[in-house]
Amino acid sequence: MNRYGIVYLSRANRSFDRAWTYRIPPELQDTALPGSIVAVPFGKRKKPIHAFLTELTNTLPKHVKDSDVKPIASVLSSRPQVTEEQIILAFELKRRCYCTIGEALNTMIPPAVLAVGDREELAARLADPEEAIELLDAGRLRSMKQIRVIELLLEHESASLSEIRQATGSSQSVLRTLRQRGVLTFFKKASPRELEAWSEDKFISEIPTPKQDQQAALDSIARATEKAEKGTLLEFLLFGVTGSGKTEVYLRAAENVLSRGKTVLILVPEIALTPQMMQRLVTRFGHRAAILHSRLTPTVRYETWQRILTGSVPIVVGARSAVFAPLRNLGLIVVDEEQESSYKSETMLRYYACDVARMRAILNGAVLVMGSATPQVATFWRTETGKSTLLRMPHRITHQGLPNVEIVDMRREYAKGNVTLFSEPLRIALQEMLDRREQAILLLNRRGYSRTVICPACGWQMRCSRCDIPLATHRNPFRSNRLPRHMVCHLCDLLTPVPEKCPVCGHEELMAAGAGTQQVEDALSALFPEARLLRMDQDSTRGRFSHREILETFERREADILVGTQMIAKGHDFPNVTLSAVLSADQLLGTGEFRSSEQAFQLMTQAAGRSGRGLKKGRVMIQTMQPDHFVVRTAAKQDYETFYREEIVFRKRMGYLPFGHTAEAMFKSFDDLEAEKAARVFYQHVLALIRRYGGSFVSTEVSEPAPAPIAKIRHRYRFRVMVSDPSLETLSRLVFHAADSMKRSDNVSFTIDIDSWSSL
Ligand code: ADP
Ligand code: ZN
Ligand code: ZN
Repeated sequence: MNRYGIVYLSRANRSFDRAWTYRIPPELQDTALPGSIVAVPFGKRKKPIHAFLTELTNTLPKHVKDSDVKPIASVLSSRPQVTEEQIILAFELKRRCYCTIGEALNTMIPPAVLAVGDREELAARLADPEEAIELLDAGRLRSMKQIRVIELLLEHESASLSEIRQATGSSQSVLRTLRQRGVLTFFKKASPRELEAWSEDKFISEIPTPKQDQQAALDSIARATEKAEKGTLLEFLLFGVTGSGKTEVYLRAAENVLSRGKTVLILVPEIALTPQMMQRLVTRFGHRAAILHSRLTPTVRYETWQRILTGSVPIVVGARSAVFAPLRNLGLIVVDEEQESSYKSETMLRYYACDVARMRAILNGAVLVMGSATPQVATFWRTETGKSTLLRMPHRITHQGLPNVEIVDMRREYAKGNVTLFSEPLRIALQEMLDRREQAILLLNRRGYSRTVICPACGWQMRCSRCDIPLATHRNPFRSNRLPRHMVCHLCDLLTPVPEKCPVCGHEELMAAGAGTQQVEDALSALFPEARLLRMDQDSTRGRFSHREILETFERREADILVGTQMIAKGHDFPNVTLSAVLSADQLLGTGEFRSSEQAFQLMTQAAGRSGRGLKKGRVMIQTMQPDHFVVRTAAKQDYETFYREEIVFRKRMGYLPFGHTAEAMFKSFDDLEAEKAARVFYQHVLALIRRYGGSFVSTEVSEPAPAPIAKIRHRYRFRVMVSDPSLETLSRLVFHAADSMKRSDNVSFTIDIDSWSSL
């Protein structure tokens, strides 16, 4: 019989985030188990608060007297809801993500599961999303919590009240106030069946016999599954062009692992964008597979989770947060499209699902397979340093070749006096495509509003003198084409004045390149009034029209041209698309992030893969002022490895990932002085620590507090400090320590993001 239990509070700030010992009263002996969610009396609080019971013990910490130990008030979960592994992961995450154990566990476990006790499933949605956006933009809301609730619902359409409360940290009364103001409506959520659109017997297709490359990959993975053991990492990079049969390899490897009595976790970037893969999974595995996606109702999510927890579902597929699915005895983890930014969480707990997948692979002795046609440079590097094994699949299954890619030199267009978004070759190609009643896809930067300064005569692009990345601005998204006076570096915050003329060729009219999707849509309808247009980006999809609906509309050929950001470039097969174009490679290259080359390469190759998927031959065009840029050249030839060789040298020289890490500490407040002051205090703490511990921080770099590239969002001012170091360990210890020694202020909210994917 264990007399005591160690608990971690569900909601506590970092100074209270430690092991607290409680007595286990006799009547709770059977139910208070490691992994239980419990309520404990704490401090002067009137009501017991939620906590996670992580461990049972018979001994007390030295300084604690038995008479001081209070009993656990109650056990809230009928059986343990947190697995032993999740507890370990929580500690691991705390080392990497500046969070508390409670926050980590709250992120891993769906609110529906945590909301034990109150099983009422009330949900909320915005009464009118358009009005809500206006309300936000007007800046009349002064409560951060109200703003967060609205932002959450703009993103997810609807969510249960418990989910909203958890995700935003707001109370029931915030939600009630918003309802009284007519912003929210409450409703009871109906629970549709989980596998809604993917029926099980629609396509009982034949399972193909693996081709040679596939078999070789499968053999390596199978050998690894046999020798895998806890504590070591066996990682593969399945590097195969689109259509080379990677998914088939995942599915076969999964079957193999299941037949050995182990479980399988498959991560995909976004369920909505991978309907074909879902269909194949359901066909292959039926009810042995559970799909975790954001549109599950709380009830269904709760039930699915319980089925996984009790071991009745051995294979789980899902997006980012599914990496925490409580599968036991994992034998295989697959991360499909490992280069996708959606694996990085940019809210609350800023974890990176690929890191978590690695931790889980080690803890379980599971084999990890990362798959991609255009891997991250940092991932490919692992295969060169022995941390991962490269499996190549360079051929498409069908002998359909890759389309030719034409590079259009926009400097020539400019010299001819064409300053529009469309080059003459592209305009002609679009007209021909329309005449033939085929379809086209036009691609823009994933953030269709960043601008980069470029010389239209020679293609020179303005770069940060310190960081050697193109400078970008994000001000004034869709409006004028006027040149900004200064450009800011997204990495080091250095402000650089825009020169009067091109430093290379002396040309006197530099340009701000970069149009938004909206602007492209307008220009297109002016050019081709008869064409039917569809637009897909963050803005078009946050209202009523979902990604899937837009894609399906296009698939039904109810539109001729689809304009969008990178989300239209992947996954879907549109057999009638015979033209795809990247409007401005310069804009892709000038997003102001050190990953821009990598992401530009990915997007251009994906664009190339989108055209001519059917029987008709396809064309691909890349418009650019820098036709000789190595990224443009290699992407046009779909030559990843040449691209990689050049990019890795740059990364090494500059100390960027995988050779170095960056922490971004962001301070936000309605009061700009407060935000700046907090950033300064943090900065001073960091400097003081570096002075005190000198030796270990010789390579650390700290930038002075500065306004973030987007200095103000929805009336909140944003100041930040960037810290970088070759060692992740050193870096996180330093910034976490500095942050922990700061006094909290109610007026300033603050986050730390390590190796962030978007430095805005
Ligand atoms: P990827 O995931 O690399 O894009 P897929 O696994 O989706 O590739 O395969 C592309 C297409 O080829 C799919 O339609 C798939 O059913 C088919 N396919 C895959 N492997 C084989 C095979 N060994 N024999 C025949 N067809 C195959
Ligand atoms: Zn020039
Ligand atoms: Zn810089």
